[in-house]
Amino acid sequence: MRRICEYLDPADDPVDKLRGRDVVGESIGNEDKDRLMNYHIHPIPALKDNYIWLLAHRDTAQALVVDPGDAAPVLAYLQAQELTLTAILITHHHADHTGGIAALKAHYDVPVYASIDSQHPLVTHKLAHGDALHLPLLDLTFQTIAIPGHTLDHMAFYSQPIVFTGDTLFSAGCGRLFEGKPAQMFDSLQRLCELPDDTKLYCGHEYTLSNLAFAKQVEPNNQAVVDHQHYVDALRAEGRASLPSTLALEKQINPFLRAKVPTVIQAASQYAGKPLSEAWQVFAALREWKNSS
Ligand SMILES: [Zn+2]
Repeated sequence: MRRICEYLDPADDPVDKLRGRDVVGESIGNEDKDRLMNYHIHPIPALKDNYIWLLAHRDTAQALVVDPGDAAPVLAYLQAQELTLTAILITHHHADHTGGIAALKAHYDVPVYASIDSQHPLVTHKLAHGDALHLPLLDLTFQTIAIPGHTLDHMAFYSQPIVFTGDTLFSAGCGRLFEGKPAQMFDSLQRLCELPDDTKLYCGHEYTLSNLAFAKQVEPNNQAVVDHQHYVDALRAEGRASLPSTLALEKQINPFLRAKVPTVIQAASQYAGKPLSEAWQVFAALREWKNSS
């Protein structure tokens, strides 16, 4: 099998470079590190700014895709890399994450996994929060995490040290609330925050630069935001993805994960025009602020 990409190689990880240290080697047990060396994870850019994540086993050339909003780039990639599609994972029902399922299924009759709350007609296997999704052909097990808010059927797929977060958690931002309530979305983000800090986040869109611009509005003196903005500027100028991120980095730069930080509380209260005491209220004000910015 041809080498697809180096996203899981410690030395090549954008965040590791930014920090000047090897996050994987430092903080992930050898077992996880060795296990993940068997896989490639590659972002397939699709539609306007979506990423369809493809995970492939190096030895067996079996692959899964997450959120195929468009089939054509996935089919082209599978063919070019001589991979076989084994499974489709869906984080939520929006068309830019599901629009390619039918055409992919015409080529590969594979199971389509999504939340038990999904109404999408092409989903074949529905999963509840906390279910273990075992994919024997990939020798991989995901734990499902229900994260409603952006939509009510939103689900993350986690296999230490990686998580696919769809449109719930972005780098330096979070999804809009199309179906859920602010407190619900806040709880979903807290759920993701409970994962280990070295968890790598594979998000559904390349929104990092615009998110960082907002993060700087909220926290003009947050040096981590400024540093990361410079770093991502350079990556994007080379046409490279700003992802994956890590939870450790997001806790420093993502205002939506910083609703308990005094400077963020102060900025959100100022925007709301009243003192906000609860963290979810701070989050709600930030989300409103971002919507209008
Ligand atoms: Zn969406």
